[in-house]
Amino acid sequence: MKKQPTTQLEVKTVLNAIQHFVGFVYQSIRMLGSGSSLRVEVAIEPHRGIRGKCGRCLKACPGYDRLPERRWQFVPLWGLVVHFFYAPRRVECLEHGVGVEHIPWSQGKRPVTTAMMGFLARWARRLSWRETARAFQTSWEAVYHSVEWFVQWGLAHRQLEAVHSLGVDEIHWGQGKRADRFLTVIYQIDQHCRRLLWVGRRRTQATLRRGLKELGPQVVAGLRYVCSDMWGPYLSVIAAQAGHALHILDRFHITQHLNQAVDEVRRAESARLRGQTIGARLKKMRWNLLRRGSRVRGQARIRLYGLLASKLATGRAWDLKECFHHFWSYKSIAWAGGFLDYWCWRALRSRLEPMKKVARMLRRHEELLLNWFQAKGEVSSGVVEGLNNKIRVVTRRSYGFRTYHAMELALYHNLGRLPEPENTHRFC
Ligand SMILES: [Zn+2]
Repeated sequence: MKKQPTTQLEVKTVLNAIQHFVGFVYQSIRMLGSGSSLRVEVAIEPHRGIRGKCGRCLKACPGYDRLPERRWQFVPLWGLVVHFFYAPRRVECLEHGVGVEHIPWSQGKRPVTTAMMGFLARWARRLSWRETARAFQTSWEAVYHSVEWFVQWGLAHRQLEAVHSLGVDEIHWGQGKRADRFLTVIYQIDQHCRRLLWVGRRRTQATLRRGLKELGPQVVAGLRYVCSDMWGPYLSVIAAQAGHALHILDRFHITQHLNQAVDEVRRAESARLRGQTIGARLKKMRWNLLRRGSRVRGQARIRLYGLLASKLATGRAWDLKECFHHFWSYKSIAWAGGFLDYWCWRALRSRLEPMKKVARMLRRHEELLLNWFQAKGEVSSGVVEGLNNKIRVVTRRSYGFRTYHAMELALYHNLGRLPEPENTHRFC
């Protein structure tokens, strides 16, 4: 027979091993209630020989008096709710006068320990906030305030060095097209770090100006590339504030504009041809038309070529869109410029109003478009699109966001790559 260890495991031993606070002792740990109301209460007392620390300067100070007992929620143990109980001391600091002592597991007036806030905040990335609250027997508000604390700490401690490339974009969220249903997002899109730097309500010049201001003049001065859509308000702010950086129009946005134009032509034409046999060619073609032509296979591909041969307006619009892909493969700016002229000339003679509109827009921004060739290899075009998709996952996931502020927190929390407050023990 193997000899069994003689010491029994006590909860106090576990607590001391995972989170020991110098100057404090776990006095008693009791289990109360029964059935579903079973809970654990941890009473904490100050260590007799160690003086309390001033809450502001952390210097040991003589005691003054004690405040009534407070309660903090701690990380649950085996599905049991755990609370800390402690009556804070007031200390008399030479510099700061009488004040509440520094309590290492607490943050201001919050009724949840920092360990529990970190625990909830980490889970809130994997589950919805409501699910997190339910799984750990706490309230939605507790999860919300935990994420808030986590994000605020992260924003205050993040490093904004070596930010060379920015991506600026607008995102639609929620229902309707009202102005405050849009967000302006600023990403860092460097090879070494891709993250959300800033998010703000609306998509006006003022929004972007506020964002750049909050990132600080040092970040703006260090920029080499700024990548954006052809959205007017952004173009003028970027030109005014980051004129030293190379401004690039994002490839994926231009593809988006072309796709929208093709879709417009298709919708108008299928409405016009309703009931005619030739109109059948357009049925169920929407997604095939919007995909990159080389990626359409099988039966759909045959139908696409049929459409092209039919001389329908949709076929011609699709052909123009596909043709534009060649633009990106040029090595020389001069040749790319030549191609752009040729393509716009063709589009303007196509008698397809949506395609003509895109051509006029591209002509207007020719200089910025050609900047793309100067930045080739430095800024990858898929990054902004990828980050946008991740944002959509967050805004659509039913987090039960009740306010804009809650959603903003969730975006920083999931995409900001923020540093995290440290805890000696990782609870999850
Ligand atoms: Zn002090």
